[in-house]
Amino acid sequence: MTIHNSLSELIGNTPLVKLNHVTDGIKATIAVKVEYLNPGGSSKDRIAERIIDAAERSGELKPGGVIVEPTSGNTGVGLALVALQRGYRTIFTLPDKVSEAKRAVLRAYGAEVVVTPTDAGPDDPRSYYQVADRLAKAIPGGYRPNQYDNPNGPESHYRTTGPEIWEATDHKVTHFVAGIGTGGTISGTGHYLKDVSDGAVQVIGADPEGSIYSNPDDVHQYKIEGVGEDFYPKAFDRDLPDEIVQVTDAEAFEMTRRLANEEGLLVGGSSGMAVVSALKYAREHDLDENQLVVVLLPDSGRSYMEKIFNDDWMRANGFADVVERTTKPSLAE
Ligand code: PMP
Repeated sequence: MTIHNSLSELIGNTPLVKLNHVTDGIKATIAVKVEYLNPGGSSKDRIAERIIDAAERSGELKPGGVIVEPTSGNTGVGLALVALQRGYRTIFTLPDKVSEAKRAVLRAYGAEVVVTPTDAGPDDPRSYYQVADRLAKAIPGGYRPNQYDNPNGPESHYRTTGPEIWEATDHKVTHFVAGIGTGGTISGTGHYLKDVSDGAVQVIGADPEGSIYSNPDDVHQYKIEGVGEDFYPKAFDRDLPDEIVQVTDAEAFEMTRRLANEEGLLVGGSSGMAVVSALKYAREHDLDENQLVVVLLPDSGRSYMEKIFNDDWMRANGFADVVERTTKPSLAE
């Protein structure tokens, strides 16, 4: 019998799958690491588990404690999932621009959701960052994980994601590509792969146009969620990536839709972005059949049915041409 004691045992060990249909003209093997197969549906389950383990060890989180974090999505699900196995309460603060569907997911996992005004910037006491800080201090047993600064984020990827990729490729991986949000994924995984390969594995960051990582002189709004920033978090080691490849919203969303309807991979927009970066890099550097590129796909497309996979939303947001290019001719007409 193989019966797992809890969902926590199912975090990590996600599979690598070769891309076969969106890689026209590319000689290198492009393999994706499918993180939506984690029990909470994203790579963030990994950091949640390690952050909570470390906070228990340090005494910051005590039995019956309350985890308070400003997060609208995957980190919230990961923290809630691990917290409920261990008897902690969770409170997430999120700006009111976050859809009701996302709030409902967090509540379904037993979390409490506090909604704050989107127009309140980080320095405003009403902002979701500041409300979380105050709640964590005011509530007895309150603990604030702070994923942007917490070294256990990158550490979880150093200990799990990196070794998994190294072993699953029989040490043959030559390039690793990941989007940069907090920077935890690329920093932890990238450092591991560089350490075990004596620096041979190339680490490539994927970044939305408008984010600080690829162009600090032109920071502006963009639509891809979960990646890019307007500041440098401590979880990101800026010296690590060998290259950072910039991707537009349109390029990322087109690839996200193609991954679903050509490869059968229903993933989120940051996954589409990471694949675009990998393909651009492979073309630019003329990678050959001896190269093995691993691209991390952080989450599932299920969370984006009202946006990237909704033709009306896509057209209303200036992506009508992407809809045209990714819609198959109707058989009914
Ligand atoms: N994609 C999505 C959908 C995410 O939620 C995140 C985490 N913010 C990332 C990519 C980036 O991961 P990291 O924070 O480890 O850089």
